[in-house]
Amino acid sequence: MTADRTVTEPIATAGISETAVDIAIVGGGLAGSLAAAVLARAGHRIALIDKRAVHPDEFRVEKIGGHQLAMLRKLGFLSALETIACRYDQVLNIREGKVVDVSVGQAYGFSYADLVAMARSQLPDPSDLIVDEVAAISCSDDIQHLELASGRRVSARLVVLATGMAAALAYKLGIKRRVLAERHSVSFGFTIARHDGSSFDFEALTCYGERTADGIDYLSLFPVHAGMRANLFMFRDPTDPIMRELRREPEATLLRLLPGLRPYLGDFRVTDRVQNWVMDLTVVEGHLQPGIVLIGDAFQTNCPAAGTGVARLLVDVDRLCTEYAPRWLTTSGMNQEKIAQFYFDRDKIAADQQSLKMARFRQALTSRNDIGWDVRRRLHFLRRSLAHRVDQMHPGWLGRVRGALRA
Ligand SMILES: Cc1cc2nc3c(=O)[nH]c(=O)nc-3n(C[C@H](O)[C@H](O)[C@H](O)COP(=O)(O)OP(=O)(O)OC[C@H]3O[C@@H](n4cnc5c(N)ncnc54)[C@H](O)[C@@H]3O)c2cc1C
Repeated sequence: MTADRTVTEPIATAGISETAVDIAIVGGGLAGSLAAAVLARAGHRIALIDKRAVHPDEFRVEKIGGHQLAMLRKLGFLSALETIACRYDQVLNIREGKVVDVSVGQAYGFSYADLVAMARSQLPDPSDLIVDEVAAISCSDDIQHLELASGRRVSARLVVLATGMAAALAYKLGIKRRVLAERHSVSFGFTIARHDGSSFDFEALTCYGERTADGIDYLSLFPVHAGMRANLFMFRDPTDPIMRELRREPEATLLRLLPGLRPYLGDFRVTDRVQNWVMDLTVVEGHLQPGIVLIGDAFQTNCPAAGTGVARLLVDVDRLCTEYAPRWLTTSGMNQEKIAQFYFDRDKIAADQQSLKMARFRQALTSRNDIGWDVRRRLHFLRRSLAHRVDQMHPGWLGRVRGALRA
């Protein structure tokens, strides 16, 4: 569908140039950049505004696979992803030094900065990206107004707020964050290599925590262009001295926490800065307002161990940019009733709830040591390990069972 262009011509008021567009997207991380590209490709006049020309080298999502790839394919980004990412197809899953099972399926490793750059590169017109900070927004049933730090102004029929975990701008509109779980998880990201420069004997590997007291959910190792990337996900007090030890002596601390890893890694070293994040689980309140819609982390944050952040933001982008926003633009106004359609979308609600459910499940599976969870944990790994052994004796068995269950 081609957008109505009646509001897109630049106008000048009292010497200050004002850019008028259909949709202004504030925040060019993954959510905002993908949303901007989908909308611009469909012919809508957009402005993507981010305070940074290049996304910094910050630790965020660094691997995707499964359903996320199907969504990226549907939205038309899969080939572009392949140009910046390293593909891998097998993950060796281990616990206490023993193989639990092997996961098979297409997956990709990358740096988040490259992923965001890829998404931005999909804008048909690169000049749609404005590098500036949005200082203020005023919203109404009709036209929305944005003031940028440089003094520039942008007006739009719809504002998409994709500012991630930065809450200041939304706060000015009375949109607050409700903390569901403070300091819910701690994540570490770093790159490793063998001392002698040889490659590891696995394509990718997941090592699950061995003792509940350690609070380790899992360590995920997967290829990126810079080498073998490590993501360590924990549910543990972020002020515990182990956090400092992981930053200062990552190799020795990792092997102390996960001794079963040693034979798989051999002599290895960390080749770059150890980055770490402490995540609160939060969701916004007061967001149902005319003229503005929140997507991605700006709406709800995620537990990195659950790996649901990208799935959630892809559902947001898909539902908003291929269904609701194009429809809203065909009639005048941008009232609260229109905006509510997005927030009450069944798929969006399901993705947001699944993300919170998974966050709580991973934390309980990792840390709870009451009898109920102890049994559940043992069964969880036993089931996977048994299925793997049967599949080794009768290759393809697991796939056939899964296929039959799906049918
Ligand atoms: C350590 C870690 C590991 C993770 N691992 C996984 C994983 O394995 N799997 C998974 O699915 N998810 C994972 N996630 C979650 C995933 O990374 C996020 O859900 C996703 O990156 C959110 O993207 P976003 O575009 O909403 O926000 P961001 O990428 O944070 O983008 C926000 C953008 O807004 C811009 N901005 C903010 N304020 C302004 C302003 N006033 N004016 C202009 N620009 C502004 C910023 O510059 C930034 O570019 C992880 C998260 C973390 C922290």
